[in-house]
Amino acid sequence: MPLAVLIHPEALRLLRRRNMTIIQLSLWASKVCRRCGFEKPYSEFGRSKQNKDGLLSYCRQCHAAKTLEWKRKNIEAHRAITKKGRQKNKQTIRDSQKRCRLENPERYRTYYSAYQKENARRYADHSNIRFHQQRGNGGSHTQEEWRQLCEQFDNRCACCGRKTRLTKDHIIPVTQGGTSDIDNLQPLCQSCNSCKGRKIIDYRVPLDPHAILE
Ligand SMILES: [Zn+2]
Ligand SMILES: [Zn+2]
Repeated sequence: MPLAVLIHPEALRLLRRRNMTIIQLSLWASKVCRRCGFEKPYSEFGRSKQNKDGLLSYCRQCHAAKTLEWKRKNIEAHRAITKKGRQKNKQTIRDSQKRCRLENPERYRTYYSAYQKENARRYADHSNIRFHQQRGNGGSHTQEEWRQLCEQFDNRCACCGRKTRLTKDHIIPVTQGGTSDIDNLQPLCQSCNSCKGRKIIDYRVPLDPHAILE
């Protein structure tokens, strides 16, 4: 029976059990998708250990559509899952990237230089927009004012208290119309600054005794 090679093993088992004929065999080689209702060959269904026949209930097309739908509805959850997977397979990914790099140095070079160019352009665009926005919002401060402010904080990050390289954080973010006046600035380390993002958080308050007295 050369045909048996083409059909699903589970179907073959049923066939033997029920003493079915060769004509019925072609029926068993396909199944109806529970989503779109079309009868499709077994090859159109992905595998699933949970189902009795070893195949998913939805055809490949419907399964892909359903997954996409879920991803769109649960953007955060999907991001968390992919992030987790990436972290779990960090070493494997790194190894395979390294292998690719070694096997196709030419391809990697073209890819990498394109990536760098694209990123440089994006970064320039971003800082350009920010610069103009900052200007539009008005306000200014001198280097001396900034130095004094840092000293008030013992040259530590106003959020985590670490003594490290400090960045100028706009308490009311530039994107929300925050000015560059010294009273809208606080010294934050790079990582606290990134964490704060576009939120308005004034870390100066509990540390500045004058603010409490007023
Ligand atoms: Zn379907
Ligand atoms: Zn910090």
